[in-house]
Amino acid sequence: MLILKNVKPGNSKIQKGEYPFQKEYTVARRKMIEELQARDIQDPRVLEMMGKIPRHRFVEEALISQAYQDTPLNIGYGQTISQPYTVALLAQLLHLQGHESILEIGTGCGYQTAILSGLAKQIYSIERLHSLILKARSNLKGLEIKNVILKYGDGSQGWKDYAPFDAIVAAAVSPQIPKPLVEQLAEGGRLVVPIEKNGKQQLVCVLNQGGHYKQEVIEDCRFVKMVGKHAFGEKKLQTSIAELGSGRKVFKPRTNQTKNSGIHPALHRKRSHSPASEN
Ligand code: SAH
Repeated sequence: MLILKNVKPGNSKIQKGEYPFQKEYTVARRKMIEELQARDIQDPRVLEMMGKIPRHRFVEEALISQAYQDTPLNIGYGQTISQPYTVALLAQLLHLQGHESILEIGTGCGYQTAILSGLAKQIYSIERLHSLILKARSNLKGLEIKNVILKYGDGSQGWKDYAPFDAIVAAAVSPQIPKPLVEQLAEGGRLVVPIEKNGKQQLVCVLNQGGHYKQEVIEDCRFVKMVGKHAFGEKKLQTSIAELGSGRKVFKPRTNQTKNSGIHPALHRKRSHSPASEN
């Protein structure tokens, strides 16, 4: 499984603040940071990473002018790049210090992955759409990010091989907290996952306190569906894509992609008053 191999923390360019393309769109990115600060994003490390990662490199050329607006943008296949506020909020909720091993469910185009990569030691990220994992891999490579391992598969099952994780974050909403994610959470770890009940989505944080699990509802949110064994079924995703008005086809995970792609085949939020949605 290739993908982007481990590097020692402190060795990556991230910590030195030297990203390719970082010098582009600096004014727009500074404005975005000010907007995040004006809301409830206060973690200095999160703000620093949001100020460094060139979000415009993750969107289609036609959308570059909107790259630093606080809005999700279409990345194809009925999916969106998370809006900056959502990414910053999820990262802040994880309380990262730099030594952590993180599992991310829903790589998408890799933007959130890139932000997390500068906040923790190692990121394991799973995406169920093959075309998107290829896009994410290329985007992360372009930024010379190396402490990320990607997997094409169903993230609702977690990633046993690398468990337990100090933090787990889902960028897609599930009808319940996927059990494997709770089981794969390290002691002292935090799981942040959006949950949908009766059509209402809420961001939930689960803390593993010595084997006792404390659950906290953070607030209302809006994310795209998590589709998988411990999440929504396939049919429901297709409905949700139709609702999103996308005519694009959903790519089902195929297990014969390894040869061609080099990828192991194992296989958002809106405050009522201001936008933070994934859709
Ligand atoms: N944060 C991402 C976007 C997330 S959108 C970014 O910055 O681009 C949510 C993603 O979750 C979509 O790409 C969707 O395909 C993916 N997804 C949905 N269900 C999944 C599952 N069971 N496992 C892994 N990824 C899943």
